[in-house]
Amino acid sequence: MSKVATSKQQEVQRIVEALSIAIAQHRLKPGTRLVEAQIVDVLDANRNHVQSALQRMALQHIVTIEPNRGAMVAQPEAREAREIFTARRAIESAIIACITPENMAAHLAELEAQQLAEVNATKLDDRREIVRELSQFHLLLGKVSGNQVLSEILANLMVRSSLIVALYQRNDIPSCQCDEHSAIVSSLKEGDLARAQAIMIAHLNELEQQLDLNDTSPDSLSLRQALTLSS
Ligand SMILES: [Zn+2]
Repeated sequence: MSKVATSKQQEVQRIVEALSIAIAQHRLKPGTRLVEAQIVDVLDANRNHVQSALQRMALQHIVTIEPNRGAMVAQPEAREAREIFTARRAIESAIIACITPENMAAHLAELEAQQLAEVNATKLDDRREIVRELSQFHLLLGKVSGNQVLSEILANLMVRSSLIVALYQRNDIPSCQCDEHSAIVSSLKEGDLARAQAIMIAHLNELEQQLDLNDTSPDSLSLRQALTLSS
C-alpha cells in the first residue's frame, strides 16, 4: 500500500473509532442524524474521509445511510437485537474456549485492573463510566483469547449491543453485573473453561432478558403516527 493510501486508512479508522465510542457510550443515540459537515468540523477531518468512515460503518450495521437523507445512527429492530445476542453467546463462548493458562498469566494484571475499574465506576455511580467499563470487560476477554478474528467480530457486536441497550433497555440499571464478571475471571483462573462459558451464557441471557423485545414493530407505529399527523 502506498503511503497516501495508508494514511487515508488510518484517518478513516480514527473517524470510525471516534463515532463508535460515542455510540457505545450512548452520547450518540440511535436515530441521531450524522451531519457530515459537523463531523468534519468537530473531528477536524477531511470530508472524503468522513464519507468513507460512514460507509464503512454502514457495512458494519452501526450506521444507516438513506438516499437523499444522509447518514444516521442505526436503530436495530427487535429481531436483529435477538440475533445479536445469539451471536454474542456463540462468539463469547468461542473466545473463552481459546483462553489458555498462558493467556491468563500474560493478562492477569490487566484483568485485575479491569475488575478494580468496574468496582470503582459502580461506586462513583457515573452511568457513562459504568457502561464503558462493563463493556470493556467483554472486549478484554477477546484480547486475552489472542484470537484477532473473534475479537474483531465481538467489537462490532458490542457497538451494536450498545445501540440495542439504548433502544430497548427496560430501566436505567447498568446492563452488566461486576460480580458475574468476577465469577467468570475466577473460573478462568482455575482453568475451568466449561464453567466460565456457562456463567457467560447465563450472563448474556440475563442481559437479553433486561430488554423489552416484545414490542410492536416501531415501523408500523411511526407510519400510523405519520398518517394521523398528515390527515
Ligand atoms: Zn458483562
